[in-house]
Amino acid sequence: MQKQKSIAVVGGGIIGLAVAYKLSQKKVKVTVFEKEANEGLHQSGRNSGVLHCGLYYQPGSLKAELSVQGIREMIAFAKEHQIAHDVCGKVVVATTDQEEKALDTLAQRGQKNGLSGLNYLSKTELKKREPFVRAQKALLVPEEGIIDYKEVMRVLIEKIKENSGTVYFQTPVNAINEETDKHVEISTKNGQQIFDYVVVCGGLWSDKTYSNLTKEKSPLKIVPFRGEYLKFKIGFEDRVNHLVYPVPDAQYPFLGVHFTRMIDGSREVGPNAVLALKRDGYKRSSFSLLDTYDSLTYPGLIRFVAKNFRFSINEFKSSLFMKDFITKAQKMIPDVNASMFERGPAGVRAQAISPEGELQMDFNVERSGRQIHVLNAPSPGATASLAIASHIINKYLPN
Ligand SMILES: Cc1cc2nc3c(=O)[nH]c(=O)nc-3n(C[C@H](O)[C@H](O)[C@H](O)COP(=O)(O)OP(=O)(O)OC[C@H]3O[C@@H](n4cnc5c(N)ncnc54)[C@H](O)[C@@H]3O)c2cc1C
Repeated sequence: MQKQKSIAVVGGGIIGLAVAYKLSQKKVKVTVFEKEANEGLHQSGRNSGVLHCGLYYQPGSLKAELSVQGIREMIAFAKEHQIAHDVCGKVVVATTDQEEKALDTLAQRGQKNGLSGLNYLSKTELKKREPFVRAQKALLVPEEGIIDYKEVMRVLIEKIKENSGTVYFQTPVNAINEETDKHVEISTKNGQQIFDYVVVCGGLWSDKTYSNLTKEKSPLKIVPFRGEYLKFKIGFEDRVNHLVYPVPDAQYPFLGVHFTRMIDGSREVGPNAVLALKRDGYKRSSFSLLDTYDSLTYPGLIRFVAKNFRFSINEFKSSLFMKDFITKAQKMIPDVNASMFERGPAGVRAQAISPEGELQMDFNVERSGRQIHVLNAPSPGATASLAIASHIINKYLPN
């Protein structure tokens, strides 16, 4: 009889858990190691909660393929396990002539990526759907929606355990004891454990885990970008009904400050994209000398800031001054003002930057010996998580 394969997954965010869930369905003996006390305490539990379906991404890219496939799988998973979600559709709003042209390009891109039902709304249709939005042109993306990603992760863990998998919390993996062509040995506070393969989904620490576990230099470096949100105060939620997004600047992987109805009915606007001085720095005052030194001495970041100085300063200003933040929001809904908002939550994006200073737009997975590392999985990584898991299992692990 063939020996049961054993695979370790490092990282209990949505991607690590999706990989472990799919492996557990294949009768692999799976063990998840998460350094925190609970799942999803970083990106996966601190995002906009939006189901993205592939409007923005370069046709042929991994992001385009896995977001289209991923949203369908995620909705099916939510239906199967009664997870709160709503395919409410999203409106992308152009407010200038230049943005109108960019919106047409986006719509063509979406069509190439296989999205269905994309259509421009007439003034009357837009008014009926989002009475407060002002737009020169508005594109409806009906396949998109909102979901409770925390509940998705809770169910993934439940299923992993039902399939005889193990999930360890407060168990960081910082080194591989031994790696041969037959196995890898991990040493944690629980002792030594031997696995056939290790899949590492370290999010904000993906470059560190790569270099610590493989003992090789990571090909990409993570630079943390904090995204801050404002929350509508009670009584002002009617300013937005569904999802309202600007036309994003194609140079950046960030989608721009947008309005989101969260799954609990509350409304948020954000996030900006401010260089964070700590990888898990969720407050404006968060600071780590080591992380700051690490980012500021990276030639890739210095080149990025030099090439994108205006962008960097503008985002920084929107963090310091609520007025700057609200000006961005007012482009789409002029009828909002500072008195309607309070400071909301924040998340930090793990954004890979190449040594040349280029933001890495696409998902990136690297294999080194018996280790598979997810090095870059920015938005829409939560939407695409189940599809990313299948991609890793089919492409990087033997049957
Ligand atoms: C502000 C913001 C808004 C976003 N909005 C959306 C959205 O609306 N829709 C969408 O689809 N995507 C969105 N994203 C992107 C999405 O959240 C991420 O793509 C996704 O969560 C990445 O999942 P992950 O598992 O790779 O990373 P994470 O959730 O960051 O998980 C990585 C885990 O690895 C653990 N870890 C790290 N090192 C170790 C170690 N050595 N040992 C053990 N454990 C370790 C960490 O503690 C962490 O729990 C957003 C992201 C942000 C930050």
